[in-house]
Amino acid sequence: MSIAPIGVFGGTFDPVHFGHLRLAQELGESLRLAEVRIIPGGTPPHRAAPQVSAEQRLEMVRLAAAGNPLLSVDDREVLRSGPGYTVDTLAELRQSVGAARPLCLLLGADAFLELATWHRWHDLFSLAHLVIAHRPGFPPDSWLSRMPEPLAREYSARLLRQPFGVHLSPAGGIVTQSIAALDISASMIRDSLARGVSPRYLLPDPVLNYIRRNNLYVTQEVNETR
Ligand code: ATP
Repeated sequence: MSIAPIGVFGGTFDPVHFGHLRLAQELGESLRLAEVRIIPGGTPPHRAAPQVSAEQRLEMVRLAAAGNPLLSVDDREVLRSGPGYTVDTLAELRQSVGAARPLCLLLGADAFLELATWHRWHDLFSLAHLVIAHRPGFPPDSWLSRMPEPLAREYSARLLRQPFGVHLSPAGGIVTQSIAALDISASMIRDSLARGVSPRYLLPDPVLNYIRRNNLYVTQEVNETR
């Protein structure tokens, strides 16, 4: 009997929005994951420092996930001092779940295409499967041409034709999944708020209420990343 994989979904979540939540919900259901663990990053190694504190981003993820039995929120990267690398987080999770349990690292296509810039990215494959969700602006037929050669090699060699293959081994495969195409990004939401335009219906109301109460994202960003 196989043990259902655990989904691991990291990100900056600055702030969390419906694009993130649909990804977690749809991949959790379509791949029959035991749970999706959402792990907000602490000090991000790949991008300009976010405008709000890691604790505030964590709190918004908690509000967004509340009441959904499929989702859990893991605060380890926020509590860790220094940069939180995904490879270290996965190694810790691997230690706690044991060698046999499948782990699935969930990523949007844009994040996957950047994978070769991540710390010790090759080691990710020995720790987890990678599940790539489609994202507007990153059509699957453009992926191979947008990947650097070393990543394209891994992608071609590890792609599983059968998504449920992630139940059959602990790590090492790549699966792609189509999800509801929601062209929502955190930067779009930050930008709306800074311009005084409501981002309502792009993110859960409790998250927007938290943003308003704490007066977050009121200034225009200096270091826009997309
Ligand atoms: P920003 O606009 O600040 O770059 P973002 O909206 O891309 O942020 P992140 O926290 O950087 O959000 O993303 C976390 C993960 O969620 C990444 O794997 C990313 O690819 C994925 N993701 C974010 N938004 C979407 C979306 N609308 N559809 C599919 N995947 C998404």
